[in-house]
Amino acid sequence: MKITVVGAGYVGLPLAAVLADFGNTVWIVRKDKEKNEALKKGKVHIFEPGLEKLVKKNLAAGRFIPTCDYSQAIPDSDVVFITVGTPCNSCGEADLNQVLEATKEIGKNLKKGLTVIVSKSTAPPGSTRKIASMIQKFKPKGAQFEIAFCPEFLREGLAIEDTLHPNRIVIGSESSEAIKILKKIHQVFKAPILVTGIESAELIKYAANSFLALRIVYANEIANLCERTGAKIEEVIQGIGMDKRIGLHYWYPGLGYGGSCFPKDVSALAAFAAKIGQSGSLFEKMHQLNTGRIVKLMKKVSQNFGGFSGKTIGALGLACKQGTDDIRESPAIKAVNYLIKEKAKIKAYDPMAMKNSKAVLPQISYKQDAYQVAKNADILMILTDWPKFAKLNYGKIRQEMKGNFIFDSRNLLNKEKLEKIGFVYQGVGR
Ligand code: NAD
Repeated sequence: MKITVVGAGYVGLPLAAVLADFGNTVWIVRKDKEKNEALKKGKVHIFEPGLEKLVKKNLAAGRFIPTCDYSQAIPDSDVVFITVGTPCNSCGEADLNQVLEATKEIGKNLKKGLTVIVSKSTAPPGSTRKIASMIQKFKPKGAQFEIAFCPEFLREGLAIEDTLHPNRIVIGSESSEAIKILKKIHQVFKAPILVTGIESAELIKYAANSFLALRIVYANEIANLCERTGAKIEEVIQGIGMDKRIGLHYWYPGLGYGGSCFPKDVSALAAFAAKIGQSGSLFEKMHQLNTGRIVKLMKKVSQNFGGFSGKTIGALGLACKQGTDDIRESPAIKAVNYLIKEKAKIKAYDPMAMKNSKAVLPQISYKQDAYQVAKNADILMILTDWPKFAKLNYGKIRQEMKGNFIFDSRNLLNKEKLEKIGFVYQGVGR
């Protein structure tokens, strides 16, 4: 098929590369001219395992075509996916400006005959119908279109894997033609396909992300109780997770949820609920608890470790989670900002996210590995769950450090082992 993907970010690039790899001709439309020229040469501006290789292969085959020009891509396409950003505005609502700007360009450039327009940008119920109205307003005479919303569920760091092997495909549409074409495109993934109404599909995405975020908030609330009672969070999680209705997966006590999706999606859902008469929703409370989490936790750590002012702190991890270079709403970056305000001196290392971090945290010192970070540090903090941080030689780290405090915000390390080699250890809820 001939497809356009609008938006070359963490969702658009993997989607376009995978669809091209299945033999479709895929235009990828972006705004940034410099990045577009680089992409034409196979240079991808984000880190996603396997992405650059797939892009290069399909560029060479002529099936993956980067452009900044809607008038090249849209008239040549049967299906257009929208994957631009939907950040939060200052009121915490989903900001649809990128989506509507892209929609206008798509509408103006539609060919005569049918084009299926599919949004994958997370947006509240009602948004896809706004897209449809805008297309209707701008489309040329003779152009026909059908509309759908297909939520995206990929995880950063696993984007190619998740695009190739999704748990499910959700197609929200009222158009039998759109459903038929979208089923055909997605059948190669051999995943269950759920066809729903448009509003259901829009809400599925928010409900799924908020539920995952809720598990993190819940784990943190239980971890707080553990710290006051002598209970251990791992034991409690094991005990509740062995109930098959609850499960052992996706329990992450720590600095709270972050990343490009959960904070903005919970906030947008809370704002949307309030707008339609449900203020004081669970989502509002989650947002409050999560927003206050880092300061609360850091104050506790500060009390235990004798304050941060004037201390040299080694920060391991800056990315919002392991496996990515994305620092959007990264709890690690927020923790470092808190430490800077407390007048600590920060040395940091992250396997992937140092380039992005330098743009928002130019004032800290960046090191090439964890041992350099540990050198002469008073306190070491693990702020991102990179598995390699669990495999470091902590005997050597202890020797490099001036102090002996370690704050393991991701519960990656073995408390007893560290205490044996002379560390004063603090985790979360243990
Ligand atoms: P992103 O910021 O990485 O990418 C969006 C891209 O769209 C940017 O490169 C931006 O320059 C481009 N863009 C903006 N306006 C444009 C326009 N008019 N024309 C062409 N390009 C334009 O965002 P993302 O992380 O890929 O997320 C995209 C959407 O997918 C969001 O709604 C997000 O909530 C949702 N989503 C993201 C993830 C994830 O893990 N990142 C997962 C599921 C769903």
